[in-house]
Amino acid sequence: MNAAPAPLIIVGAGHAGGRAALTLRQQGYDGRLLLIGDEAHAPYERPSLSKGALQGTAELDGYRLSAPEELSRLGIEHWAGRPVQALDTQGKQVHLADGSCLAYSGLLLATGGSARRLPGVAAGWSNVRYLRTHDEAVALRASLVGGSRLVVVGGGFIGLEVAASARAMGCTVTLLEAGPRLAGRVLPAQVSQALLTLHAHQGVDVRLNARIQAFEGNDRVERVRLEDGSCIACDGVVAGIGMQPNVDLARAAGLTVGQGIRVDVYLRSSDPHVFAAGDVCEFRLHPQGEFQRQETWRNAELQGRHAALNLLGAEEPFQQVPGFWSDQYDHGLQTVGLLRDGPASARRAQPGGFLLFYLDDQQRLQGACGWGAGNSVAKDIKLCERLILAGQPLAAGPLADPAISLKTLLRN
Ligand code: FAD
Ligand code: NAP
Repeated sequence: MNAAPAPLIIVGAGHAGGRAALTLRQQGYDGRLLLIGDEAHAPYERPSLSKGALQGTAELDGYRLSAPEELSRLGIEHWAGRPVQALDTQGKQVHLADGSCLAYSGLLLATGGSARRLPGVAAGWSNVRYLRTHDEAVALRASLVGGSRLVVVGGGFIGLEVAASARAMGCTVTLLEAGPRLAGRVLPAQVSQALLTLHAHQGVDVRLNARIQAFEGNDRVERVRLEDGSCIACDGVVAGIGMQPNVDLARAAGLTVGQGIRVDVYLRSSDPHVFAAGDVCEFRLHPQGEFQRQETWRNAELQGRHAALNLLGAEEPFQQVPGFWSDQYDHGLQTVGLLRDGPASARRAQPGGFLLFYLDDQQRLQGACGWGAGNSVAKDIKLCERLILAGQPLAAGPLADPAISLKTLLRN
């Protein structure tokens, strides 16, 4: 009698890993399937962590990818709270921290990333917090009591969304950004300026080019001293200073790793039986492009799904138009495609905001970014995605003209 084939194993039960597991079952894979994660929870989506979860308007059940009972019903063995410690790609085995060892027939690494730690903070200081997981969001939410003074370090998305949530909870917020503008690495200058205006209007004390000299206190931070001599008294600190991809397992196993686990167009790593997806994965957006990582919901969703198909042998090249969103106060930001530094090719005024368009050297739409009240830019950003995919040359004039609908440009 033949032995049962080794299972498919997914390491990392976050968004990409969870989506891959669900897709494998949707695609009819009926073999043994293990989803191994170091968190205590079934896979969930992280965007609510900095928004509704902090403001008390979203609970874990509302942002799970799948309920635990559903995973059981589908025969997905979710091993929670079980860190994987090592991979043996020669022997096709994973080794868990608890000493167990499992053989695999195919492996997906979806280990995401970890919040970068603040330099100069003594280990164990109780009021310094980070935000990557549901448990961290629960701890942070408990500390956001009305009237407390919060210092947010980092003016990227975590910093900005936490600042907005903390203001909604009645906290006083000082935000320290090291760079000359907010979210300066990923957003055009006009959007950084709009974010600055909004946060200042909402009462956040935003300090750009901020250089921290010291965190002062005993077993908690009581003051943050800046190099310019100023000193900010506080009850708590939240750091959102970027994330580091969890590549140690892959590196130690001898897989090729750059800024992330390097994969080919099929999301396959340098080992043919090992795939990678999500924040941890370094891939080429275009065949001749640079290797890059995307740290977005959309990328985790699409790559998780796609890696599952290729684990089953589909041999489909991965393609995507990148994009992300952020919600802060009553405003929404959405992007699609590639944005670049420097002025936009066209700017269209919208009620309460604007749309920016980026054309390539053949006048084709390459990227767009919308900023406005609530969800008001969502429809136009969807149309922009269709314009990007259509690949037709466009003139800047009509793009900038709010009287001409993007739908008309698409039809033409
Ligand atoms: P993750 O979701 O981080 O999952 C990786 C999992 O692997 C984790 O559970 C981790 O603990 C586990 N793991 C790691 N190492 C091991 C190991 N050795 N053994 C076992 N398990 C392991 N994107 C947007 O586009 N819009 C948003 O509004 C938005 N908001 C966000 C808000 C917050 C607070 C955060 C943190 C992110 C946000 N993102 C947003 C980004 C988006 O959530 C991420 O890009 C996405 O979660 C990445 O999914 P992933 O599966 O690659 O990684
Ligand atoms: P981030 O977007 O990389 O932003 C970090 C910011 O902190 C940068 O502006 C950086 O400035 C600044 N910084 C770094 N070190 C600093 C220091 N010592 N003092 C002051 N500022 C400092 O990272 P993040 O905001 O921490 O987010 C982490 C992850 O969550 C990312 O993957 C992000 O995409 C994801 N996330 C996404 C969303 C969304 O898409 N809506 C929301 C929340 C989280 P420099 O650039 O000048 O170094």
